[in-house]
Amino acid sequence: MSILNADLHCHSVVSDGTLTPEALAQRAHSNGVQLWSLTDHDEIGGQQRAATAAKEVGMQYLSGTEISVSFAGHTVHIVGLGFDIHDPRVVAGLQSTRGGRHARAQDMAAGLAKVGIHGSFEGALTYAGNPDLISRTHFARYLVETGVCKDTYEVFRRFLTEGKPGFVPHRWANLKDAIAWIRDAGGMAVIAHPARYDFTPNEEFALFTEFKAHGGQAVEVVTGSHSAAEALEYAGMAREFGLAASRGSDFHSPDESHTDLGALPWLPGDLTPVWELLQHRIQ
Ligand code: AMP
Ligand code: MN
Ligand code: MN
Ligand code: MN
Repeated sequence: MSILNADLHCHSVVSDGTLTPEALAQRAHSNGVQLWSLTDHDEIGGQQRAATAAKEVGMQYLSGTEISVSFAGHTVHIVGLGFDIHDPRVVAGLQSTRGGRHARAQDMAAGLAKVGIHGSFEGALTYAGNPDLISRTHFARYLVETGVCKDTYEVFRRFLTEGKPGFVPHRWANLKDAIAWIRDAGGMAVIAHPARYDFTPNEEFALFTEFKAHGGQAVEVVTGSHSAAEALEYAGMAREFGLAASRGSDFHSPDESHTDLGALPWLPGDLTPVWELLQHRIQ
């Protein structure tokens, strides 16, 4: 086993989390996290604050983000770790990835209005700490608050997933570009929560093959939404594709997330942990 309490995946109010970067740093530290990364969706606006807060509590830090990518008609998330947050291509790439969210959210609200749920764009926006990053999660919180559903899981199931009234297909970043932004800025690209995609075995094989061919280097083996069996399965994929392994809770909120910061199984000991390859990028 690789015994370092690293948590390299979570979200703050800069994307769809409910805690500030400072509160997350405190919580991670109290939970025993030794190496941390804040990985807001398509955003690096919280990075400086996260790094400073980590330093204040004496916790090691890697820069991070989680990029929304379109691949084979599905949305895939690529976590970037240890890159230079001032790199102009990273900054521009993430900015363009965020770009379509406002119009998408208006279309989502129009879809929800058709089934009698009105005012959801304005409602969701009141939950978005960063208006540039309005996401499905903010709609979910609004629909829970207004009593339409009992929790955010029910909102996704009934309204926000493919084929449901509030779902709007969206074109995110291209896989090759997302990997290049991160790599060219000195960082490492990681396939996030691989068990959460609805891929056929062939599509999944294509994802891993193309990811590797474009310079992707790691896969999230241990993550908040993986069962023990799924972690074993993707440990196998890491071995098969010669990828390093990452570990991250994907924590969003004390009220919504089942897995708290740092509260995760260890990585299997034979895999190369991402932090071994990113030693020189640790702050
Ligand atoms: P977006 O980037 O706007 O498509 O929103 C994606 C976010 O919604 C993810 O990062 C999760 O935080 C959340 N999410 C996606 N699917 C679900 C689900 N089935 N249940 C709860 N939250 C979800
Ligand atoms: Mn999220
Ligand atoms: Mn994700
Ligand atoms: Mn995430």
